[in-house]
Amino acid sequence: MKTIGILTSGGDAPGMNAAIRAVVRSAIYYGCKVYGINRGYKGLIEEDLEEMNLSSVGDIIHRGGTILKSSRCEEFKTEEGRKVAVKVLKKYGIDCLVVIGGDGSFNGALKLTELGFPAIGLPGTIDNDLAYTDYTIGFDTTINTIIDAIGKIRDTSSSHERVNIIEVMGRHCGDLALYAGLAGGAETIIVPEINYNVDDVCNKLDTTKKRGKRHSIIILAEGVGNAQDLGKEIVARTNADLRVTILGHVQRGGSPTAFDRILASKMGVRAVELLLDGKAGRVVGTRANEIIDMDITEALSMTRDFDKETYEMAKILSI
Ligand code: ADP
Repeated sequence: MKTIGILTSGGDAPGMNAAIRAVVRSAIYYGCKVYGINRGYKGLIEEDLEEMNLSSVGDIIHRGGTILKSSRCEEFKTEEGRKVAVKVLKKYGIDCLVVIGGDGSFNGALKLTELGFPAIGLPGTIDNDLAYTDYTIGFDTTINTIIDAIGKIRDTSSSHERVNIIEVMGRHCGDLALYAGLAGGAETIIVPEINYNVDDVCNKLDTTKKRGKRHSIIILAEGVGNAQDLGKEIVARTNADLRVTILGHVQRGGSPTAFDRILASKMGVRAVELLLDGKAGRVVGTRANEIIDMDITEALSMTRDFDKETYEMAKILSI
């Protein structure tokens, strides 16, 4: 019988609970024992863990956040910290670890594998910034949260004939801005991967105004720059009545969408299957609607291609 440890680490994402549920339930189904480790690598080092059973994960598939809590842990980035972590894992007879998180957490899982401790990564991050997988757990829910906000802002923007800048998450990856901007019908989408200039943004406002459009939504990914500063520049050039909304942490919460729940469930089950097959040092992902797994080092070395085609298409559709 195998004993599996599971933790969530780094930025939380809706759907992490569905992934935890899938790992715990399928592991128990296959006769394994599961320990839930609280607060990510920090809880691991501090020996904050408990055995989970079928009911530990009851009534959570629809909940945002993570019942295991999450944290960032500097100590785990040190060799000594990781050695303490491995000691704790061994003390509880844990054979392998499932880590749900983003690229930082995967780096941690890789380091554990290098120390000889088998780990598997599941992509839990709203940004969709992991190149090896088409989608990460939480991304779809966050897009839906953003388009809900765009719809609401559009109502008031239209009543007052205003320009609105909506800042969304995404420090290096513009996927949230791009796909939410497309789905929400934003007039302008600004992402870190593509250079932009304020003149173009202002010209677009001018063109759309001339054809009778009295309001406009600009989606700005946070990594590009400060939304207030951009707003001031636009006002200085166009004299527009402009408001800035920074969506912030509302984007991290909420009940996961069906897509995220299903994705998380499938990925969780694959993680357990891999561990039962004696495979480790791998991450689970999805490509072309299939669940895939790949070597963690290879996955982390991949660079993401921005979906320029969709970006150009969104531009055409917002003329
Ligand atoms: P995310 O997993 O969402 O990208 P972070 O980058 O904050 O979030 O990483 C989460 C945690 O993973 C960190 O607090 C740290 O404990 C661990 N971690 C990140 N990078 C490394 C690394 N290079 N080596 C070991 N552990 C790491």
